[in-house]
Amino acid sequence: MEVILADDYGFCYGVKRAIKTAKDNKDLSKKVCTLGPIIHNPQMVKALADEGIGIVESVDEMENGKIIIRSHGVGPSIYDAIKAKGLELADATCPHVKKAQMSAKTLADEGFKVIIIGEKNHPEVKSIKEWAGKNSLVIGSQEEAENIDFISKLGIVAQTTFSAKAFSEIVNILLTKSYDIRILRTICTATDKRQSAAIKLSKEVDMMIVVGGRNSANTTRLAQLCTEHCVTHHIETVDELHDDWFNNIKKIGITAGASTPDWIIKEVYEKCKTWQAY
Ligand code: SF4
Repeated sequence: MEVILADDYGFCYGVKRAIKTAKDNKDLSKKVCTLGPIIHNPQMVKALADEGIGIVESVDEMENGKIIIRSHGVGPSIYDAIKAKGLELADATCPHVKKAQMSAKTLADEGFKVIIIGEKNHPEVKSIKEWAGKNSLVIGSQEEAENIDFISKLGIVAQTTFSAKAFSEIVNILLTKSYDIRILRTICTATDKRQSAAIKLSKEVDMMIVVGGRNSANTTRLAQLCTEHCVTHHIETVDELHDDWFNNIKKIGITAGASTPDWIIKEVYEKCKTWQAY
């Protein structure tokens, strides 16, 4: 039996940077909190809480101290609220997200109606929409693109983690909706690379173990993609591995979402290798 790690898995650049920002700003002399969980991984969030970095869900919950903006970013109203309350700020917005936010703002400032291609309820998309202002909307499917009326000046940006293929399909429809279109392809390659590596590996093994938070959209998506090619189990920690999953299995593949800490992946990898010995 073999245990193989995907070519690309685990923390992306933006998540590593966000966690480093949180740790660098740890200060036990004052209240330090992230605005929402720093990443979608309960184990990592708990590890930071144990070090004294808490979570608030809203700026209203902080009267003093330092607030850390996570990699998903926020809209201008949050920066204004932080400033108005006199709070210190550590900004861990991923530079790719910042680029999408500023692209949306620039298009809006130049008079384009901004269409953001992404998931409406994702915090990153909400932040991009706020930077784009009122003359903007979010769509996530070809059907929604079909239903759009003609727009004289149309600007397009993407959620950074949106599928490149789905983005192109939607853009192809939007090309028929305006004669003045500017497309800013604000997709980050981290998600695509992890998905391609997971699909490739899932075609080569008998079983895939996908490691990451159940509240992590990108981890859940990895598990869905792997399920199309082999038996797949989505787990958060090593304790969730079951003996009976390994019956008649000769090759195991492991991948992990962009918010899964290395130490959790290593524990799963080591445990799977131990199974190999029996
Ligand atoms: Fe940044 Fe890309 Fe990671 Fe999102 S997936 S945090 S855009 S590096």
